[in-house]
Amino acid sequence: MFQIRICTLLFLSSLLVLPAQQPKKLNSSEIYEAVQKLNVLASVLYIAAHPDDENTRLISYMSNEVKARTAYLSLTRGDGGQNLIGPEIRELLGVIRTQELLAARRVDGGKQRFSRANDFGYSKHPDETLEIWNKNKVLSDIVWTIRNFKPDIIINRFDHRSPGTTHGHHTSSAMLSVEAFDLANDASKYNTQLQLTETWQPKRLFFNTSWWFYGSEENFEKADKSNMLNFDIGVYYPTKGLSNNEVAALASSQHLCQGFGRLSQRGTQQEYIEFLKGDPLDNNNNIFAGIDTSWNRIKGGKAIGDILNKVESEFNFVNPASHLPQLLKAYKLIQTVENKHWKAVKTKELKAIIEACAGLYLEASSNTPNATPNSNITLNLEVLNRSSANISLASYKLSTLSNGISKNMEMSENQKLNFEEGIAIPANTNYTTPYWLNKKSTLGMYHVEEQELIGLPETPRAIFVDFNLNIEGTPITISKPVVYRYSQPDKGELYRPFEIIPEVSASIADKVFIFENDQQKEIEVTVKAGRDAIEGFVQMAYPNDWNVYPSKQKVEIANKGDIQKVVFTVIPPKNQSEGLITPMVNINGEFYTDELIEIDYVHIPYQTVLMPSESKVVRLNIEKRGNNIGYIEGAGDVVPESLRQIGYNVTIIKPEQISPENLTNFDAIVVGIRAYNVVEELKFKQRYLLDYVENGGNLVVQYNTNRGLKVDDLAPYDLKLSRDRVTDENALVRILEPNHPILNFPNKITIRDFEGWVQERGLYFPNEWSQEFTPLLASNDKGESSKEGSLLVAKYGKGNYIYTGLSFFREFPAGVSGAYRLFANLLSAGKEDNSNLKD
Ligand SMILES: [Zn+2]
Repeated sequence: MFQIRICTLLFLSSLLVLPAQQPKKLNSSEIYEAVQKLNVLASVLYIAAHPDDENTRLISYMSNEVKARTAYLSLTRGDGGQNLIGPEIRELLGVIRTQELLAARRVDGGKQRFSRANDFGYSKHPDETLEIWNKNKVLSDIVWTIRNFKPDIIINRFDHRSPGTTHGHHTSSAMLSVEAFDLANDASKYNTQLQLTETWQPKRLFFNTSWWFYGSEENFEKADKSNMLNFDIGVYYPTKGLSNNEVAALASSQHLCQGFGRLSQRGTQQEYIEFLKGDPLDNNNNIFAGIDTSWNRIKGGKAIGDILNKVESEFNFVNPASHLPQLLKAYKLIQTVENKHWKAVKTKELKAIIEACAGLYLEASSNTPNATPNSNITLNLEVLNRSSANISLASYKLSTLSNGISKNMEMSENQKLNFEEGIAIPANTNYTTPYWLNKKSTLGMYHVEEQELIGLPETPRAIFVDFNLNIEGTPITISKPVVYRYSQPDKGELYRPFEIIPEVSASIADKVFIFENDQQKEIEVTVKAGRDAIEGFVQMAYPNDWNVYPSKQKVEIANKGDIQKVVFTVIPPKNQSEGLITPMVNINGEFYTDELIEIDYVHIPYQTVLMPSESKVVRLNIEKRGNNIGYIEGAGDVVPESLRQIGYNVTIIKPEQISPENLTNFDAIVVGIRAYNVVEELKFKQRYLLDYVENGGNLVVQYNTNRGLKVDDLAPYDLKLSRDRVTDENALVRILEPNHPILNFPNKITIRDFEGWVQERGLYFPNEWSQEFTPLLASNDKGESSKEGSLLVAKYGKGNYIYTGLSFFREFPAGVSGAYRLFANLLSAGKEDNSNLKD
């Protein structure tokens, strides 16, 4: 199920966008922009709930025009959404979206932060959101981010005063931000954080409003704007050759798994923020009013500003290295300032500028893309000074050793120094996997114990090299994580982060096995070696009433990276039952139970993720009629594979294959999710589908959204889609027509079949239908009216038309028994007397 997939969606052709893996070296314009930013001591924090919520126009404007340190705090990693570019969902989708946010920030110049909140899926109201999230922990994380990042200004994407009008996560992000604004400076709140950081009072809190929140552009036009500031976010940047809104579009276009690739815009455009809290504004449209954002902000800053403002005003684009003496003088002064926060921030920024001005090339690359703890690798170090400055390499220090390796070598202009170092990876080195996935999460929260990791976008790299240089007499240490550099004939030079992986990992390709009767199944386990010469055995953990044989199998793999497949026979119990099976690899008495998942797309760096290797096994009591199912794919779902698991013969029907002759071969036709939103040809083929029903066929249509339907006649009778949905997966389901054949044949459907559903009941239910339709089920979220459009059936001619917004596409991959039993009934509609069987 999880496999490497190369995304070929699009290559962004801009100087701003490098292949994500390549270490960035700044050109003259970029160095100049960095110097401009160095001379601004101001910080802005933008807060919302998901990857893609952030307004990149405003983040880019704050970062590139205002030159403020700007960060986006996304409370979640967006695990709950859908993936348009590959098979990853849930935690793995969160990993991709985390990296897409980092890619967006590389474009717009912002920084990225997160909380431990888990994106559990759609939520209608903040009350529900804050029940499922641990409100106190999420609030603690926002306070922690404010205390560390120390923003002068906080901008909320959403309105905290309008619960219920948008996703509950959205409103919650704004409500919690308003609370955190007051708590961050209160030393009695979340006081254990204060062992690691200090309290902080941001100056002002804003809401990034727009016409959208007013219902229409006309309403917004008329709105009182006396409490608002506005910015022209269409400004042009000659140093980039791009307008701010173009930069913003490039940044949003990094959200490829959400299909956010978009056209850029140019020209003047206004963006509004509404003042909510903090010091009153002045008359000058200045969000930082009352804060000196120059070097004069800090004690001892004036002397530094005098030097660095001169560098900026007299910047030498032809030879930036000519500024090194001034930059080094400023660097030494910064080391003496008392303000620890700005000292750390500006030291880091200035070091990067010095490195770029000198054209330094410092790289530590491994001879292998990954290694296990307790193994040896070889590092190649490349050290090069591409300026006439007087620079020497005093020493370098490998993070695996306590002492540096002394060199004391001149770095003459453009004379490369190369070193080779064998290093031993310590036995206690942590695996390279997202830190928030190390412990089992709950529906609402990730579990992270180490306070210092909370908020970080990714796991800090375990292996790095400190290069201790002497630049014109000033000692400066520049740290580089170890990378893996390689070439591919059709792609050129490529980079990957260097990864620490386990000695062995095991996986089962399918995450769910459905047993439709008591027949045993053979299940294949793939064991992969993380090092050479793996020897041991695999055994399976499984539920009590199930059986697996043989009890263990030998594993012997000679070479790192190779795999061995072993097959186990799994025997289900006689009665309905479900549980987990887990392969356990025993190497020298140590058990390895994780699967190593690789995520490889061109727009983000290569990722490895360790997840518990487990598959769900489900023994169903299920009856079926009819066997040949035709499937018309929509926006993408795994329903065909799921139906095959319970023994159906499923044929994918391409839009061009939809013809009267082809359709007659099937016992039922199923239309994939959102097919009427995404498949253009259905406009012309719909009549064949309806004719098929009229002639005795059975058509099952899954959910579509009500906007952008390709057909006028979704059904043979009037049917109006709405945004009605039931997001609580445990919401009570009421059976409206207990005697209807679809709820009785061939499986008797009861309330029990609605137990154990995941994520939601369903979405985009019709809310109006003609009398030919019979609604079979009703359900609703807390405090809402009864929704009866989740499953509608109608006789049409000799056949049956069924429309359902129930989320079968989510329940099947989770192995939910009742969903399979009910769907088998939908496919069996009209076959009570067996007269329509065609197999
Ligand atoms: Zn959102």
